[in-house]
Amino acid sequence: QRAEWRKLRDEPTVTVDNVHVELAANIGTPNDVAGVLENGGEAVGLYRTEFLYMGRDKLPSEDIQYNAYKAVLEKMEGKPVVVRTLDIGGDKELPYLDLPKEMNPFLGFRAVRLCLDRLDIFRTQLRALLRASVHGNLRVMFPMIATLGEFREAKAVLLEEKEKLVAEGIAVSDSIQLGIMVEIPSTAVLADQFAKEVDFFSIGTNDLIQYTMAADRMNERVSYLYQPYNPAILRLVKMVIDAAHGEGKWVGMCGEMAGDETAIPLLLGLGLDEFSMSATSILPARSQITKLSRADMQELAAKALDMQTAEQVVELVQSIQA
Ligand code: PEP
Ligand code: MG
Repeated sequence: QRAEWRKLRDEPTVTVDNVHVELAANIGTPNDVAGVLENGGEAVGLYRTEFLYMGRDKLPSEDIQYNAYKAVLEKMEGKPVVVRTLDIGGDKELPYLDLPKEMNPFLGFRAVRLCLDRLDIFRTQLRALLRASVHGNLRVMFPMIATLGEFREAKAVLLEEKEKLVAEGIAVSDSIQLGIMVEIPSTAVLADQFAKEVDFFSIGTNDLIQYTMAADRMNERVSYLYQPYNPAILRLVKMVIDAAHGEGKWVGMCGEMAGDETAIPLLLGLGLDEFSMSATSILPARSQITKLSRADMQELAAKALDMQTAEQVVELVQSIQA
């Protein structure tokens, strides 16, 4: 099996009926890029920048960030790199920010909510990203967007920083795609409206599942409710994909679900364009997808959307895998 996967390293990911999808990797540091390339990753679909901020005693400077972003872009040699702006809060703390304890951190002051309040932190990161943009194919993505207003505000700050840099005579790429994570149900429901304003979506199922099912992703006692295959989740994913395609935009997924053997046939059938996963899952996923027909998976997904339980969906997918 490993030998078969190896052969697929430099191959595109194409279904038997000739549909091309992109297999990307999730990374946390520039050092992770080597593993992405070794495993045949076609892009970085999620660079979690939190790690730059963690494990130190103060905020990382603009230059520290610039060097990290530049390193990833250069090592990827022109392949797309989706960098997610800071998603701190929830389960990830930064002791030096000294934020008050919250009753429900996953429903609290987190990610873009924090960045739109602490504009000093946000602007520094955006400047570092904009400066790095000339070194490769940069895409910027905002996490935990719940309203159109948040997206517009964050985008306005990005454009302001871009104008400032240009006025200072610093080169900035003009082809940076700007997208959002869809990980809050309100955003999935209004995806048709967001799709008119963003360049792409990346569905963050790790959070989308917890918020849709109201089941804390860290809480063992309610983990039985954390159901990736629940038809409710599949319907939300479908809404997002259809909305994006209606506006000619692409949709990725960077939650754990994107690399899951049982989910992949369904996601392919729903029309997902980009699957971002841990690097070691890429070759197995490519091997799986190149044996599937998208037309058949569309039928499978249509059936799954009409099922009542997650168990029924899993049985359905297993029936074609047997
Ligand atoms: C997600 O929510 O699916 C996601 C990829 O983001 P994180 O796991 O970092 O919250
Ligand atoms: Mg998330």
